[in-house]
Amino acid sequence: MTTHLITSLQQKLKQLDARGLRRRRRITESPCAPQVQVDGKTKLAFCSNDYLGLASHPQIIAALREGASRYGAGSGASHLISGHSRAHALLEDRLAEFMAPDIEAVRTLTFCTGYMANLAVLSAMTDRDTDLFCEQLNHASLIDGARLSRASVQVYPHGAVDQLALMLAASRSPGKMVVTDSVFSMDGDLAPLADLLALCEQHDAWLLVDDAHGFGVLGQHGRGALEQAGIRSQRLIYMGTLGKAAGVGGAFIAAHESVIEWLLQRARPYIYSTATPPALAHALLASIDLIDSAEGAQRRTHLGNLISTFRSQLQLQHWHCLLSETPIQPVIIGSNDDTMNAAARLYEQGYWVGAIRPPTVPVGTGRLRITLSASHSRADVTDLVAALNALQA
Ligand SMILES: *Cc1c(COP(=O)(O)O)cnc(C)c1O
Repeated sequence: MTTHLITSLQQKLKQLDARGLRRRRRITESPCAPQVQVDGKTKLAFCSNDYLGLASHPQIIAALREGASRYGAGSGASHLISGHSRAHALLEDRLAEFMAPDIEAVRTLTFCTGYMANLAVLSAMTDRDTDLFCEQLNHASLIDGARLSRASVQVYPHGAVDQLALMLAASRSPGKMVVTDSVFSMDGDLAPLADLLALCEQHDAWLLVDDAHGFGVLGQHGRGALEQAGIRSQRLIYMGTLGKAAGVGGAFIAAHESVIEWLLQRARPYIYSTATPPALAHALLASIDLIDSAEGAQRRTHLGNLISTFRSQLQLQHWHCLLSETPIQPVIIGSNDDTMNAAARLYEQGYWVGAIRPPTVPVGTGRLRITLSASHSRADVTDLVAALNALQA
């Protein structure tokens, strides 16, 4: 006999099916790369966030092996107990050296995931006397971090600097923080960071920038959205992820040394969680070296060329493409069914693209989230564009 608890869950799952919202996973058998073995077949993938193609880079794989033989498999404990290895310490220093042009008196702290880093900053850097000003299209981890904080939360419309200015001017709280994605993860557009920082200067607020999709990709040296915007400040709290362009996993906060010391003392997602395996930190040292090298710059240039090729060759009839200069190229289709059908037809033809539905995006804006990587060839991209153009005919 099935209990009521189980039958009511089963009903809810059926409702997801009825609304075209049931999500399924596909199993991959090969490294993250353009040609991927998935469910027993080879597909050309345009759905990872491996923007520089580092996830299967031989130098990083070699460093991961070396890290495992030097430090073993697991860290064994949280950072404040005994899990903070030499590899973690070196990675913090390397990231601080890398980010130094953008943040005054910079220090960094690494986290298991970007999700945790966002929870950590938002819960530790705010209290009941803080007003949080959150951009409408912020990532789920920032929304959850705002919920975990005891701050009062106000959401400003996408890109609406003027409206944010009014909200900041009306705030009577002693603490203020503006929170934004730098590259919006489902739209691919950029936040007006220089304008946001100017407002934060004016109203003495912190600016938390989630650069999950910018770190490694944006800026001449790959330092991300701050480098690209040409801004530098003590009030910037920068979150970069290490599982996307950096190709490995984890995340870091870069900020003024006092911010970092406070997080170390107070951020529960940092304190009460086992440190990542040191081998990952060791592999990340190789990844940061690559991002910061001539090869990294070449990869960014090639990626930029692929983005231009995609945008100039795509011919849209019933669909539309959002304006995006980043590797995230969303093609808006509309209904859940139409979005899933388009993705399924591309998949049959050998192309694996992400299909994004509510609640990740607003109802009626189902989309193909096409992501380009420096590991794609020009032919990969022109083939995909031809398939997209043909699908609308
Ligand atoms: C992926 C992502 C995160 C979470 O980072 P993980 O390391 O994957 O947990 C946070 N913010 C944004 C905007 C993201 O796209």
